[in-house]
Amino acid sequence: MHTIDKIYINGAFVTPHGEEWFDLYNPATEQTIGRVRLADEADANAAIAAARAALPRIASASREERLAWLSRMETAVRKREAELFDAVIEEYGAPVSRARWMVDYAADVIAHTADVLRDYPFTRRAGTAEVTMTPVGVAGLITPWNANASFITGKLATALAAGCPAVIKPSEMSALQTRIVTEALHEAGLPPGAFHIVTGRGDVVGAAITAHADVAKISFTGSTAVGKAIVRAGADTLKRVTLELGGKSPTIVLDDADFAKVVPMALQAGFMNSGQACIAGTRILVPEARKEEFEAHVRDAIHQFPAGLPSDPTTAIGPMVSQRQWERVQRYIALGLEQGARLVAGGPGRPDGLSAGWFVRPTVFTDVRNDMTIAREEIFGPVLSILTYRDEDEAIAIANDTTYGLSAYVMGADGERARRHAARIAARIESGRVLVNTLAHEPKAPFGGFKQSGLGREYGTFGLEAFLEPKSTLGVFAD
Ligand code: NAD
Repeated sequence: MHTIDKIYINGAFVTPHGEEWFDLYNPATEQTIGRVRLADEADANAAIAAARAALPRIASASREERLAWLSRMETAVRKREAELFDAVIEEYGAPVSRARWMVDYAADVIAHTADVLRDYPFTRRAGTAEVTMTPVGVAGLITPWNANASFITGKLATALAAGCPAVIKPSEMSALQTRIVTEALHEAGLPPGAFHIVTGRGDVVGAAITAHADVAKISFTGSTAVGKAIVRAGADTLKRVTLELGGKSPTIVLDDADFAKVVPMALQAGFMNSGQACIAGTRILVPEARKEEFEAHVRDAIHQFPAGLPSDPTTAIGPMVSQRQWERVQRYIALGLEQGARLVAGGPGRPDGLSAGWFVRPTVFTDVRNDMTIAREEIFGPVLSILTYRDEDEAIAIANDTTYGLSAYVMGADGERARRHAARIAARIESGRVLVNTLAHEPKAPFGGFKQSGLGREYGTFGLEAFLEPKSTLGVFAD
């Protein structure tokens, strides 16, 4: 049993003022694996005060000094990879292949941030003025449970690269990962006050950070509903916000596609991170004339995505993170059937052979209309929908007929001509990212959503600038 009874304020592990305890579970067994003592509003306020006091020191650090912090952070997080790997499997249920990626990424994202910082022009000229990109102030960083470690390291690395001390409110469901990352960051020897970690409830600690006058900026990753609450709560103090929210991403399968290649890639896009991914391609748009052929390929390929124990290297889809999440996914499967969608694979209940754990059968519906609930709402589980289109204009109209706009996929034939055609389609999709015949991430490119998938961007130069304010000084040039 793990007992986590400390938070991190001003360079030290301290007992929270908050007295509530929260149980941690292994989603593959449903067993309690530990408990975490939660911070409260008083803890949030203490962390914010300490961050405010550290602001002049952090904001005035040179580029070289900030690069040195990032380098030490990266080394320290890499040293904890083995522990983090075990924690991601135990408390989140990530299958081993995914857990490996998640753990590597928690350190890689710090290195990517350092690459941006190394060449970033903080000062430039605009007419007669000198423009200096200045740290925005204390940053509040709020993370979800589906990739908690790398959201903490990525957001913190960017805040510090910009010169902003940070108060971090990680998901309360990911306390094992948070503890390991906190210990690593402590070992990195950052200046006192550079970062604070207050694990607590969203509506308590998250809300306190969001409303506090001394927090200048919120970087939030999580649900669209909470994102909207954050904008409202931050309005009185005109907080800068970066919101990375939900998605209902389309995968447009083009008429020239080789289904033997494209179907496994489309399923992978939908089932990534056990379906608990904001960027999951959950609406698969297929040419009407090739629907039966596509369904047959799905039936053949579905065995490549077995649900099972996270520790089994052949598992592609692990359990849902919580019982609540499992019930929510089951509710959507029932709704799909009620509203007339037809199952190509999967369905209600647990996969065969698994009697415990929050496992869901990898599920693919067909005959889905874009007005059905399963095509409109983010399910956040391994449940995909096949929809059909008659021509590319209709495909684009369906793809864009959503309140979201985080990611999209266009999958078609290989070759220069086909790629150019796919790129023309990509240009018409309202989405922060469009991936053409690939699932590879590009950390240098901005990441974020159109419409209700978010506000602002993370990663690369755009991500750094989200923590900076341009300040113009006039009259300093002689000419
Ligand atoms: P969530 O919105 O429930 O919680 C996210 C974080 O916000 C948690 O730390 C939570 O405690 C906190 N929170 C809750 N209420 C709050 C409040 N009133 N004020 C401040 N903070 C509050 O999301 P989740 O269930 O942890 O994660 C899943 C969601 O995250 C999905 O919708 C998914 O699409 C989204 N997500 C988006 C991205 C992206 O980059 N766009 C990435 C991963 C996950």
